[in-house]
Amino acid sequence: MIVDRSALDRIIAAGGFIGAPTGSAPDANAIPIPKEDADLAMDAAACIGCGACVAACPNASAMLFTAAKVSQFAKLPQGQPERYRRVKAMVRQMDFEGFGNCTNHGECSAACPKAISLDHIAQLNRDYLKSTLRADRRIVSEIGAG
Ligand code: SF4
Repeated sequence: MIVDRSALDRIIAAGGFIGAPTGSAPDANAIPIPKEDADLAMDAAACIGCGACVAACPNASAMLFTAAKVSQFAKLPQGQPERYRRVKAMVRQMDFEGFGNCTNHGECSAACPKAISLDHIAQLNRDYLKSTLRADRRIVSEIGAG
């Protein structure tokens, strides 16, 4: 079977990265991270982008994939500066690509070879909601300042 994964790659290109200066690798213990957060991030980062979740979903939703790629940074300090911009951009690209909406069937997680949890979809939804509230607050403050 051949899978065209280019739509998933475009979701990553929309925001599934952190902006960091290049250079030599920092020490692994330079930024302390609670073990629980590191474990959650590593669980999300296990996603290999295979697309089995999309294929298994009756809605052809890419929510589990996108959620894993959002969640792998949401718990880490390195992911914070672009956290809300990231989730908005990735969800926008996911919608643009024509994937279906998530209606919590759970087929994605059951089919996932890396056992990515539905909890990551909850994380994405929380971050997306916060990103819209932050935008509203900024608009309100800009109107107030103007
Ligand atoms: S099935 Fe699992 S590993 Fe594959 S893209 Fe979806 S979330 Fe990632």
